Amino acid sequence: MRSVRELSSNVPPRVTHAVLRACYHGWPCRSRCGVLRHRCPLCNGEQYDNLNHIMRCSFVRQTFARYKVCPLAEYRPEVFMLCDFRYTRNQNIVMSAILVAAFYKYLNKRRHGMPQSRNFAKQFDQYVDDAIRGHSNFCYDLVIQRRSTT
Ligand SMILES: [Zn+2]
Repeated sequence: MRSVRELSSNVPPRVTHAVLRACYHGWPCRSRCGVLRHRCPLCNGEQYDNLNHIMRCSFVRQTFARYKVCPLAEYRPEVFMLCDFRYTRNQNIVMSAILVAAFYKYLNKRRHGMPQSRNFAKQFDQYVDDAIRGHSNFCYDLVIQRRSTT
């Protein structure tokens, strides 16, 4: 909760909202909504549209590494949940929260039929931009600084 309080002054309310919904297991994952057969909207893994998997999904791990939150080998679900003390310092917590919010929106779009692009990174970056649209230069500069196109 300390993390969320720190966050709210630096990110748009939509970002804090997505983080809080993750903390309270409130994402509309198919498993949570009672859909018996489902797949991860990212990796297509069977029975994997649940938050427990999503925070471990290879697409999520790679995205956190690409945005320089942590090295790929050191990623853990706690990074996604903003409670790994090693990767919540300084601007990492803001970058992580923006990514969580972008995944929240991206996954909802996928569940409603949006196709996944062959270039996932480029497609996902648009959701990162949407998560901070209209907010501070601080967020915009952070995203530009952290974003790697490789
Ligand atoms: Zn997955």
